[in-house]
Amino acid sequence: MSQSALSTPFTDGLAQGRVRCQRCAHCGAVQRLARHACTACGATALEWFDAQAGGRVFALTEIRRAPTDAFKALVPYTLALVDLDEGARVMGHAEAGLAIGDRVQAGVFVLDGQPLIRFTRSATPGA
Ligand SMILES: [Zn+2]
Repeated sequence: MSQSALSTPFTDGLAQGRVRCQRCAHCGAVQRLARHACTACGATALEWFDAQAGGRVFALTEIRRAPTDAFKALVPYTLALVDLDEGARVMGHAEAGLAIGDRVQAGVFVLDGQPLIRFTRSATPGA
């Protein structure tokens, strides 16, 4: 296994089309980013759960230089930092035309065998 133990449940989830977040088994706090210990209480018993993966765009960044050859077909593309309703903050590719504050839904697409998150505008306006 080449992935770190910390990211494996997340990437395994993506491969199954699921966005997973970490929650503290001790106090229930959802971790904003993948952690080894709870940011609220310090417990190391963190569990992964499947998020509904709806959220709101926090930030957008346009990528003009492909990080690998596989991404060259995509550039320029936009990455979104999204605050999921569950409380986690997740990075993913963004549908064209998204703006900060838009409601989005995370899906998964595969690029060069690697599952990646893609955010599209939510179908439920005002949610
Ligand atoms: Zn905790």
